[in-house]
Amino acid sequence: MSWNRIEIKLGGSILMLFLVVLLPLGFVIDQIFTGFYYTQAKSEIGHLSTRYANYIHSVEDEEILTMFEQLANLTHTELYIINKNGEILANSGIPGLPKGTSIDQETVEALALNHSLTEEYEDPVSHQRFVVSGKAVFSNISFEGGVFVLSSVAEIDQSIYKIRQLLILSGIGAFFLAVGFTFIVSWKLSQPLVKMENATRKISKGELDTKVNIQSNDEIGFLASAINDLSVELKRYRDNRQEFFANISHELRTPITYLDGYANLLKEGLYQSEEEKQQYVTIIQQESKRLIQLINDLFNLAKMEEGRFELNFEEVNIVEAAENVVSKIVLKATQKNLSLYLEAEDDLPSVYGDGLRIEQVFINLLENSIHYTEQGFIRLRISMKANDTAAIIVEDTGIGIPEEELSQIFERFHRVEKSRSRNHGGSGLGLAIVKKLVELQKGEIRVTSKVGKGTRFEILLPVIKGEIQ
Ligand code: ADP
Repeated sequence: MSWNRIEIKLGGSILMLFLVVLLPLGFVIDQIFTGFYYTQAKSEIGHLSTRYANYIHSVEDEEILTMFEQLANLTHTELYIINKNGEILANSGIPGLPKGTSIDQETVEALALNHSLTEEYEDPVSHQRFVVSGKAVFSNISFEGGVFVLSSVAEIDQSIYKIRQLLILSGIGAFFLAVGFTFIVSWKLSQPLVKMENATRKISKGELDTKVNIQSNDEIGFLASAINDLSVELKRYRDNRQEFFANISHELRTPITYLDGYANLLKEGLYQSEEEKQQYVTIIQQESKRLIQLINDLFNLAKMEEGRFELNFEEVNIVEAAENVVSKIVLKATQKNLSLYLEAEDDLPSVYGDGLRIEQVFINLLENSIHYTEQGFIRLRISMKANDTAAIIVEDTGIGIPEEELSQIFERFHRVEKSRSRNHGGSGLGLAIVKKLVELQKGEIRVTSKVGKGTRFEILLPVIKGEIQ
């Protein structure tokens, strides 16, 4: 198992945090209990010594002294009584303080002065430790001596020891609970990451159908869904690329086959007349032009998709641009007996775009309309829409486009009917270029169509408001 795993790091951090909180907390609880027991013991012996001192009027009364010695045994405490010189007159059983000996004068003086004393005492003979509360005994106002009540620290220590044991046991219990808990939490948190790692590795090896099955509605869920989107996008990109290469080879092969075939006929002299020879030369010329057009279109489209296509932005009068195009193309329409109309609103504002590219958009759309219309008319309408947008509509009464094809006609090489398009000389790139050019000029393009009735393309371009910066 690698120590670098996220479960270990996460689990370790949670445990560390737990210990950082638990250890000082345990220490504080221990201190609180210790303080509590000592204060309790001191307060109890303080009460006792006060009561005893109040009760005794003369430390010389033998009977009273014996009674107090016995009383001490009953209350599980020890006591000794001194006279005003510090001489011990009564002792309930503390080996280091025998009757007849004296305690130090400093303690006696302190007692006489302060009337009470609280201190700790370690017996030199039994080595037992006590907390001691001493009270002065007064007869009227004269200092007679003192009563000292002692409580063994061993008992307090034992109670504290029990509490400590309980604290340590519950601490260990809590620690193991925390270990289990952190393991489960870290495992649960890291599992989706491991799944995502495996999935991305598979995706990077080309298994683009891989999906991460994580549904959580949080950052991890969002990351999983982003990985899924990425694999879909990559798959689409790969399929597109394959399709693109298949299409491009096909598109290049057809004119090249023509070129090769007719060039061979000419080389071998396989023609009957000069007229036939000229016919072959014309075909070679047409196919060469088609090839050059295809390569130019492809090259421009690639540049547009990579964002390397340069546009010369300027103030463009779209009506003028439309008139230019119509004058160039009107002949093609009349040759097919089609009417070509241009209708434009008066005083249309300019758009900010590339004039030549806008003309190219008009040419591509109008040529298509002429190509795919056998009778009726083709109309180019330009008007203002709300929100400072100019609407350019190219409509025809042609063969139309089936509903299910509409979403794909702007894709490269997509043709509704493959054979007919080639007869018209189209490369299948015209609409893809139109869409890119419109988008590069911050516009949008839409299409509606009815099979057998006609097609309508609508382009929206933002017009210039006020002065250009
Ligand atoms: P092409 O060079 O094949 O015309 P385009 O990208 O210009 O390529 O158009 C893509 C396809 O959309 C065409 O093959 C044709 O089937 C369809 N199409 C485009 N314009 C029209 C139109 N005005 N009427 C009918 N179909 C159209």
